[in-house]
Amino acid sequence: MDKPEFTRAMVSQTALELLMGDITQQDTDAIVNAANSSLLGGGGVDGAIHRAAGPQLLEETRTLGGCQTGDAKLTRGYRLKARYVIHAVGPIYRAGDESVAWLLASAYRRSLEVAAEHGLQSVAFPSISTGAYGYPVELAAPVALEAVHEALSAPTPVKLVRFVLFNPPTLRAFSQALAALAQRHPDVQPIS
Ligand code: ADP
Repeated sequence: MDKPEFTRAMVSQTALELLMGDITQQDTDAIVNAANSSLLGGGGVDGAIHRAAGPQLLEETRTLGGCQTGDAKLTRGYRLKARYVIHAVGPIYRAGDESVAWLLASAYRRSLEVAAEHGLQSVAFPSISTGAYGYPVELAAPVALEAVHEALSAPTPVKLVRFVLFNPPTLRAFSQALAALAQRHPDVQPIS
């Protein structure tokens, strides 16, 4: 595969990075989980995060009373390198349903709000909703990056937002979406 051309940018005071990898290995202050609304664990990235964090993570998420679609809640990271996990619930994709884009954007925005409330400086995201929840990544990536851009327009302690993408097509879609974001917003400055 050709290396995607556009994988790093500054947005105001925050670095935005795209890379391919496993989010459970990230040493950012928080990693974001693409959770379901029960917060009781699941497959995909959720299962991987719970396996890597250990059983105490489930003990804590059990106490939270679930999480609405479009919202996010914070727990500790336990055995993860990341000190915290922000559990964000994206929408199940339904073609023609206009609320899915809003709910996906909300999951990213709320994650960054929760990170800011706790003074966190670095956050790693997976591609929320584009696995079992069926959101086409070509549609989800622009929504994700637009939401992050908007959240970073206000003052925030978050100085690094890293997207940790699991496979080449997902990285490619996000790279294309980042190039398009930079064309729409002059404050998005590419870093070579
Ligand atoms: P959802 O239910 O929100 O769609 P999934 O976990 O099924 O969540 O998929 C979300 C994205 O996370 C997909 O692109 C999937 O390939 C990716 N993914 C799965 N495991 C990992 C991991 N360990 N690190 C990063 N991304 C992952």
